[in-house]
Amino acid sequence: MNMDVLVSLSKRRGFVFQSSEIYGGTGSCWDYGPLGVELKNNIKRVWWRDFVQNRADMVGIDASILMHPTVWKASGHLDHFTDPMVDCRECKHRFRADHVDELPWTHYCPATKGNKFTIPAGEPCGHCGQRRTLCPECGKGELTAPRQFNLMFKTFMGPVEEDAAVTYLRPETAQAMFVNFDNVLQSMRLKLPFGIAQAGRSFRNEITPGNFIFRTREFEQMEIEYFVNPNDKVDGRPADEYWHDRWIEDCMAWFRRYGLAADNLRLREHERDELAHYAKRTVDIEDRFPIGWSELMGIANRTDFDLKQHSKWSGKSLTYFDEERKEHVVPYVVEPAAGVDRALLAFMADAYREEEVRGEKRVVLKFHPELAPVKVAVLPLLKKRDDIVRTAQTIRVDLAKHWRVVYDDTAAIGRLYRRQDEVGTPYCVTIDVQTVGDSERGEVGDLRVTIRERDSMEQIRVPIAELSTVFRELLDGAPWSQVSGRYPSPRG
Ligand SMILES: [Zn+2]
Ligand SMILES: [Zn+2]
Repeated sequence: MNMDVLVSLSKRRGFVFQSSEIYGGTGSCWDYGPLGVELKNNIKRVWWRDFVQNRADMVGIDASILMHPTVWKASGHLDHFTDPMVDCRECKHRFRADHVDELPWTHYCPATKGNKFTIPAGEPCGHCGQRRTLCPECGKGELTAPRQFNLMFKTFMGPVEEDAAVTYLRPETAQAMFVNFDNVLQSMRLKLPFGIAQAGRSFRNEITPGNFIFRTREFEQMEIEYFVNPNDKVDGRPADEYWHDRWIEDCMAWFRRYGLAADNLRLREHERDELAHYAKRTVDIEDRFPIGWSELMGIANRTDFDLKQHSKWSGKSLTYFDEERKEHVVPYVVEPAAGVDRALLAFMADAYREEEVRGEKRVVLKFHPELAPVKVAVLPLLKKRDDIVRTAQTIRVDLAKHWRVVYDDTAAIGRLYRRQDEVGTPYCVTIDVQTVGDSERGEVGDLRVTIRERDSMEQIRVPIAELSTVFRELLDGAPWSQVSGRYPSPRG
């Protein structure tokens, strides 16, 4: 699967556009188009339903993006959320210090009268044997010593641009769950273990964003902070370790349930030396993206670090009263953190197929019906027949009360099917002469329409009156075969 194919399909069919494209675009920002926003909303809605709505131990919040600047002091982001940068004194180009040696470099070779060469990353010059010491971009400037560059977007609160007004766009949603821990605990009268979920935007001023929507400076997260009593044992194990494994399994199962193939997913345990200083253990779920195996989400055991830090900096107690042991404890927290944009990219890449059907090529996005941006397309077989068009439009209005449904009569039926396949619409409904009859010949219609299923391309004839019930069944997860067995095939 090639990323360019996805980028091009995304633009052509209204999933993702480059941000501010008519002005030449902005670095690493993307806009979700009419189908992209539906897909993205479906991912968030299903995640929220499965991990918040369906669970008695979960609640949600929606916090503001601008927070008190001390939040970022306490969390460690102000001091540690940095990358080391070097600048070229000549061309002013800026590089990540740890990436400079991974770039091909420009060299004016003294052994060949100063001829200019581009030399592969990390290699010496084949003529003079020199290694890179100057700027890899211009080949002339000296590089500064590394300086720490904070990845948080800085801005000012209020009309005065002074130091006291500095604040930041949040680089993660997690901190809002920690600073609201006591508000949520008290207002909802919760018992450990319980989790707080949030889906929302975060911002990181990445030095090297890229790979389409994989790494962007503005992105959306779906995060859960799951608080447990570190003194509890579950199945003979410390509660935090037990719940960490449970969340790893649940998240893995979730991605598989909505369409990611098992062999496109794997777990990666963080090594001791790559663990964040507060983390007891971190496991990534990696996906086989078009760019290769990369992080889809991380599940970290953050211990009691965050609550203790915020308690220290705010002077407020952030503890839980353990009724059984009659003592206050600082809960441990397990954090399943997923990126919405990355999940969308993974679902799209995994759903993409090029197939040959009866000698004809088709591109199809085999989205899980719950994620598909459009659930049903209503297609009239003859757009010149008023009664067919009227019936089709009535059906669209009826179904659209429950689902995203589109009407299309702008091409011949084969073409209309291909269009819906390409955006992953699981079901098409066609209305034909048989449906409405032919009054001139005195033939009455059978008031049945054809439903075509995307993956098998099988068709069944279903009474119009039963459409809502049939789609409710299918879109609630019933397999096609369970429904299709009850109805005849067209003209069969
Ligand atoms: Zn330079
Ligand atoms: Zn040389």
